[in-house]
Amino acid sequence: MPIPVYLDHNATTPVAAEVADAMCEALKNVYGNPSSGYSHGQRAAIAISDARQALANLIGGDPNELIFTGCATEANNLALLGVARATADKRHLVISAVEHPAVMAPARYLESKGWRLTIVPVDQYGRVSAEAVVAAVSPETVLISIMLANNEVGTLQPVAEISRLLKGQNVLLHTDAAQAIGKIPVNVEDLGVDLLTVAGHKFQASKGIGALYVRKGTPIRNVLFGAGHERGFRPGTENVPAIVGLGVAAQLASQRLATRDDRLGCYRDQLHERLRSSIPGLALNGHPVHRLPNTLNISFTDVTGKALLAAACDTVLASVASACHSDEEGLSGVLGAMGINTLRANGAVRLSTGWETSGEDIEIAAQGLIKAWSQLTST
Ligand code: PLP
Repeated sequence: MPIPVYLDHNATTPVAAEVADAMCEALKNVYGNPSSGYSHGQRAAIAISDARQALANLIGGDPNELIFTGCATEANNLALLGVARATADKRHLVISAVEHPAVMAPARYLESKGWRLTIVPVDQYGRVSAEAVVAAVSPETVLISIMLANNEVGTLQPVAEISRLLKGQNVLLHTDAAQAIGKIPVNVEDLGVDLLTVAGHKFQASKGIGALYVRKGTPIRNVLFGAGHERGFRPGTENVPAIVGLGVAAQLASQRLATRDDRLGCYRDQLHERLRSSIPGLALNGHPVHRLPNTLNISFTDVTGKALLAAACDTVLASVASACHSDEEGLSGVLGAMGINTLRANGAVRLSTGWETSGEDIEIAAQGLIKAWSQLTST
């Protein structure tokens, strides 16, 4: 039985071979505690420092502006709750209607503690207007948190434009770049952000590692209490192998971006074309242009996305919404926020390519989906 083609890279990516090798080496041989002054500890501290530099090379900024965390969820929580803890008098937060729960939930928590929360709506493509975001700012506003790329439909948000329009106002800007890093160029200076979230397992590092970029001078306080690791923002002995792996994944991503490797987009568009030529009535969810190169969220007619993927599961693995919600009943909040009706939302499937996806994989996946759709609609 052939192995099904994996097209769910927005849920998580396979670990790159180079990353796995570096992690194994670190697991076996770099076991010292980075806080220990003797040679084993110092070797681990240097490995962390190298990884921090590699991540800074990928996203810009200074290595000392990076805090390693356990995941993107933790980085988002630190961004929102840490900034809130550092703020004495103002209590207003602005987010978009399509934020991941890792931003939405801490934002709602702050609301429950008396903060005013403005949720800016998105258009039919899942994109906020930069003007609408900035228009929501008041003298009470502390922080704006707008994701760089949406996990379900791949739509890119105008974060750099928001930053430009905000110039001169005393408001912090955070972006959850978990889905964008490794797929498109991401640079904290070009974006003009104060805080930026990184997720290792979305770009070929392992699970259990993320990071938060915090621009020097940003008012933020710790939300975990303990010793002084990561400048006191992430107390707890560092996960050295995972950090080493993140550094190698950052190097790989930097190399690919430098060569403008456009495989992700080519295969994504090839898949779309193959499906469109055989299945009538497909509707693209997400922005046709301002979108992650690897993400194809499409609605099929006359079937539910769930039934289609179940019927095609021997040939292709994908999801109907983000992985975090796959066991929840109900429709995607992202598609709902885009004004997509229930019928179309029910037929939606998210297909996301990765760096190991091949042309042959695309053909197998396309054939599997076309066959499953034909079988389900012919009865
Ligand atoms: N933010 C976005 C945009 C995501 O897509 C995800 C994961 O799907 C997260 C945050 C949370 O990442 P993690 O589960 O690694 O904490």
